Amino acid sequence: FPIYQSATFRHPGLNQTTGYDYSRVQNPTREELESTIAILESGKHGFAFSSGMAAVSTVLSLFEPGQHIVVSDDLYGGTYRLFEEIYKRYGIEFTYADTSCIHQLEKALKSTTAAIFIETPSNPMMKVTDIEAVAGIAKSEKLLTIVDNTFLTPYFQRPLELGADIVIHSGTKYLGGHNDTLAGFIIVNNDDLAERIRLIQKSEGAVLAPFDSWLILRGIKTLGIRLEKQEKNALAVAEWLRGHKKVERVYYVGLNDHEGYEISKRQASGFGAMISFSVKDTSLVEHVLKRVRVIIFAESLGGVESLITYPIVQTHSAIPEEMRERLGVNDKLLRLSVGIENVNDIINDLEQALGG
Ligand SMILES: *Cc1c(COP(=O)(O)O)cnc(C)c1O
Repeated sequence: FPIYQSATFRHPGLNQTTGYDYSRVQNPTREELESTIAILESGKHGFAFSSGMAAVSTVLSLFEPGQHIVVSDDLYGGTYRLFEEIYKRYGIEFTYADTSCIHQLEKALKSTTAAIFIETPSNPMMKVTDIEAVAGIAKSEKLLTIVDNTFLTPYFQRPLELGADIVIHSGTKYLGGHNDTLAGFIIVNNDDLAERIRLIQKSEGAVLAPFDSWLILRGIKTLGIRLEKQEKNALAVAEWLRGHKKVERVYYVGLNDHEGYEISKRQASGFGAMISFSVKDTSLVEHVLKRVRVIIFAESLGGVESLITYPIVQTHSAIPEEMRERLGVNDKLLRLSVGIENVNDIINDLEQALGG
């Protein structure tokens, strides 16, 4: 599909249009990507944004002062920061609950609750929330179910099919897949909701550029084979880490003793390639981050290159210490996004980085 690198479009005459007026409103390359992501997520309407956070922010613009949202307590730090430091000032209220436990979720509901916002598997503790159960509660209480589906992508998990109303993505991660482009998505089925989102998208203007839309389209062509390979690598790496004497605990949904394993098998066709693990000795963290050579010490995830991050100082620095401690995001926890390299190269790299 071509890159329509144009901000504006010529009109054939008065009251005549080719269907495109101005690229903030719509651009053919972005439109192609938006319909692609809608098809992949089993949705009717897709929207592409300049980043994952722009997509989350657009969803938050649907709400009004006085409304309350229940949010997964283990979530991307930037989302927490957006809610607490930006949207709270506009009068939207948030309660953070362990949504992997339905009772905790129900306890957090109030008369003013308008939506439930979940991330599953969660970042970085890999907790699994039962999407169908959450959507069931939300439907009976007339609330919107919003799912950040970044970690599994529609290749493995399609929340709209499970009853969710809004799906969000950081397209920067698996959908792009090459650590070279920022992007964000919203996908919905409901026409009224789509109209409201379209209005916010064209009014606020955080749209995805034509070239970036094209890069994500190209990335999506290999989504399936990348994820198959990344998942296979991740399972081998998780099992290897579990047997290492300096590793305390491994959090990977694909290990059959993981708390969320059964729910995950029911609602997703794969476990993804995100692993968190804690080392026994805090001093080892610095060594590992300094010594890795195949794996790159960098923020982000989902691309072809394996990346390792230290959530407490990177992705989750905006989360208060008390909340981080409760969740287990402590100074011994590392997060690994497993790439498509030869699995022995990844394991050997971890071996030498953990050793000595
Ligand atoms: C990265 C990420 C985001 C934010 O997306 P950006 O593209 O970095 O703006 C939101 N949610 C999750 C789960 C993420 O991993």
